[in-house]
Amino acid sequence: MAGKLSFSYSKMTLYKECPQKYKFRYILKIPEKPKYYFAFGTALHKVMEYLYSSLKPPFPPLETVLAFFKTDWESSTYEEKGYPSKLKEQEGYLEGVKIIEAYYKKHLKDELSPLATEFRTTVDIDGLSVIGIVDRIDYLGEGKVSIVDYKTGKKINREPDQLMMYQKLMKGNKELENIVKTRYPQADGIEVSNMLFYHLPSLDSQTFEPASEEEIKEFWSRVLAVAADIKAGNFAPDPGETKCRFCDYKDMCPVWKLSPSEMQELQAQPAEKESAKNPMDILSDKVDAYGKALREVKNLEREIIAAMQKEDINRHFGKEFEVSLSKEETLDFTDRQKVVEILKEFNLLGKTLVPTLGKIKALLESDFIKPEQRDALLKLARYSTQYKLNCSKTEE
Ligand code: SF4
Repeated sequence: MAGKLSFSYSKMTLYKECPQKYKFRYILKIPEKPKYYFAFGTALHKVMEYLYSSLKPPFPPLETVLAFFKTDWESSTYEEKGYPSKLKEQEGYLEGVKIIEAYYKKHLKDELSPLATEFRTTVDIDGLSVIGIVDRIDYLGEGKVSIVDYKTGKKINREPDQLMMYQKLMKGNKELENIVKTRYPQADGIEVSNMLFYHLPSLDSQTFEPASEEEIKEFWSRVLAVAADIKAGNFAPDPGETKCRFCDYKDMCPVWKLSPSEMQELQAQPAEKESAKNPMDILSDKVDAYGKALREVKNLEREIIAAMQKEDINRHFGKEFEVSLSKEETLDFTDRQKVVEILKEFNLLGKTLVPTLGKIKALLESDFIKPEQRDALLKLARYSTQYKLNCSKTEE
């Protein structure tokens, strides 16, 4: 890979998640599908940028900020945002409104001196062209600045790597120095003296002391190692059960074209990385996986039953499992009103309490009912046959 590598914290994160995924996204430039949580985060970031765009009080009133959010939210469809339905998109909108209102209530009176919002800088360093977009930079006086990064996901606590990247990019940053000098001519240079993640859904922040020279050095060596791997074209896939399941590139990924045993071997390795995830994220993944697995089972069941009926067989074997079909005669009553009338006429309504299908069936099998009454009810019954698929492990 010739020339300077265009790099950023999010690129590094994606490469660490899976080099093959990085290749699909940044080398082959195949876009991922829209994700609702990114759309939600972007919308709230835009609101925060708008709120502090004047860089000094008075900041816009809540109604104006909410109107800005609404207009921006409505400028794309739910599909474009990646929501599964209009209803879910509406829930996202209402959640956004709730967050903005709560933020406003808590921070309206804060004495903030934002120097910049969505401060974008590109720094050429060690053969990399590193792009950083800092959500907000506040001025603390005497050349000291605070770096603020908004978070909108479920996870509140994080490692400070992203902030360290910004700290590195802010050191001696001419664009930032110019902003400070223009507004505070007496300031002599700039120094990052505070860094924080601000979690908008919980209105909670996680503050960090600036990293020491040693810590930055160690962090930067990790950045350079990742960059070196990318430059060397190392894009070996790093599969993981959860991450692959939800990866947009799964259909084209070489891992999933391997034999089942090779694939199992690869899948068995990533447990360590998966355990670093937030337990609630893991639970959400499992809920989705469970729902998808149930859907797959139902589809398979339908397909197997149809194929067995077509071949006119009621037992079939796979390599490890066998299935058999059993028939179940089911009884239904289309005209429930008529059934109730008959039950009343024969003074049997009291025997069923509420005449549900199960209760009527039980009555038909009981001794309470006389043959002519049973015949009258059965005349209204409709029989149908349902097939049940039984599956068991084939005995050796
Ligand atoms: S399917 Fe898995 S291994 Fe393949 S690119 Fe996606 S995350 Fe990486």
